[in-house]
Amino acid sequence: MIETGYRNTAQRTMILAEVQAAEGHLTAGEIFERVRRRDPKIAYGTVYRSLHLLAAHGLVQELTFADQASRFDKRADRHDHVHCTGCGLLMDVDVPVALIARHVAEEQSGFAVTSHHTVFAGRCPGCRNKAVGGSR
Ligand SMILES: [Zn+2]
Ligand SMILES: [Zn+2]
Repeated sequence: MIETGYRNTAQRTMILAEVQAAEGHLTAGEIFERVRRRDPKIAYGTVYRSLHLLAAHGLVQELTFADQASRFDKRADRHDHVHCTGCGLLMDVDVPVALIARHVAEEQSGFAVTSHHTVFAGRCPGCRNKAVGGSR
C-alpha cells in the first residue's frame, strides 16, 4: 500500500485542473501560487511532488531548461517550443522539420530515438520592440 489517501488524489485533481486552465507554461512555484488560492493549507512539496507524478503518468509534460526552473505544460503530446531569452516567454510551435533532425541524430549516434523536443531560443515580439526602442 502506498501512502496516498483520497485527499491527495483530490489535491492532485485540483493541481491538474490548474495546469490545464493555465494559458501558458508555468513553473511549479507559479502553479503553487494558483493552487494555494483554492486551498490555502496546501504545501509547496505536495504541489511539487504531484506535478512530477502527473508528468510521470503523461497527464502533463515537464519541460526542463539547463539553468531555469522546470515548466509544466498541459499539452502532453509532442510539440516544440520557442523560448524568449529576454523575458522567459515560452510558446508552442509545431516544427515538422525536426523529424529530419531526429533521423540525423539516429544516424550519428546509433540510438533508437523515441522522442525529441526542440527549443528555439530568441527574442519574442515584445522584447524585440523594446530593443528597437519601440512604443513601450
Ligand atoms: Zn520576451
Ligand atoms: Zn508547450
